[in-house]
Amino acid sequence: METTLLRFGIDIGGTGIKAGVVDHENHILGQAYVPTGAQRAWQQVIPDIAKTAQEALQSAGLCRDAVGSAGVGCPGTIDAKTGTVVYSNNLNWKDVPLAQALRRLLDVPVRISNDANCAALGEVCAGAAKGLQNVFMLTLGTGVGSGIILNGKIFEGGGPGGAEFGHTLLVENGERCTCGRRGCLESYASATALIRQARRAAEAQPDSLLCTLCEGDLSRMNGRIPFQAARQGDPAALQVVQTYTAHLAAGITNAVNIFRPQAVLLSGGISKEGTYLTDPLTERVKQEVFGGAASFLPEIRTAQLGNNAGLLGAANLF
Ligand SMILES: [Zn+2]
Repeated sequence: METTLLRFGIDIGGTGIKAGVVDHENHILGQAYVPTGAQRAWQQVIPDIAKTAQEALQSAGLCRDAVGSAGVGCPGTIDAKTGTVVYSNNLNWKDVPLAQALRRLLDVPVRISNDANCAALGEVCAGAAKGLQNVFMLTLGTGVGSGIILNGKIFEGGGPGGAEFGHTLLVENGERCTCGRRGCLESYASATALIRQARRAAEAQPDSLLCTLCEGDLSRMNGRIPFQAARQGDPAALQVVQTYTAHLAAGITNAVNIFRPQAVLLSGGISKEGTYLTDPLTERVKQEVFGGAASFLPEIRTAQLGNNAGLLGAANLF
């Protein structure tokens, strides 16, 4: 009986909250969105989350008792066992009893996990890694998020927090990371890191296409320009993209040597470069991975679900 019930999938971000009603074939029957208003206290934000879920239900033309559970993806350090947001920088939350508060408002069981974990689960349930059991995903955005699926389930670790592969060491005494440490993967493989390196190269080579595409204003540099210039053969941009790819490949190789996943997924802004990014990555990982080309190599793919990955993964916490 219970398996016929639909599920809420909720994706909380620093700027917006998305809620959807998801069926057992992972179709989104209805969805709704509301700005987070993260400057407010959590006691004001959580009722908005519940309201957004109700709106998603209405947009699907369904009544309340059609839904039997709610899964929530949330940025930050999450204690999935207690349903608590231990700390979220994006939301300015500390020790927020999210699952408990939402359960009271929605009157269904609630489970929560980190947003990057939910995105990985979404891709495994309905996207680029559908049907696979062991998958490693990196989100290449402002930072580098990681989601690890082991035996079909999110790896939550032994306590609150889960895996933060973006903050594993890549370069000793390297670039300063947002976490306070130096040389993390994130400080070489995030879009922020790519932009920093591209600015440095453009500054040193003002005649490059890399610089021209910024129209003389390096504050216009973004994560697409280095790839755009590299595709046109600009030597400065090619150097930036090759270095970026080498660092990302080293990080992926580390993950492959630990987990031997069936697939590595890349999401976030940089992943939109598609095979221009994944082909050279695959070549490098093949050379670097333990056992080399003779060993099993996971396919490096780009994620498919875009902004819906988190919502679909959250629904699949049940
Ligand atoms: Zn770090």
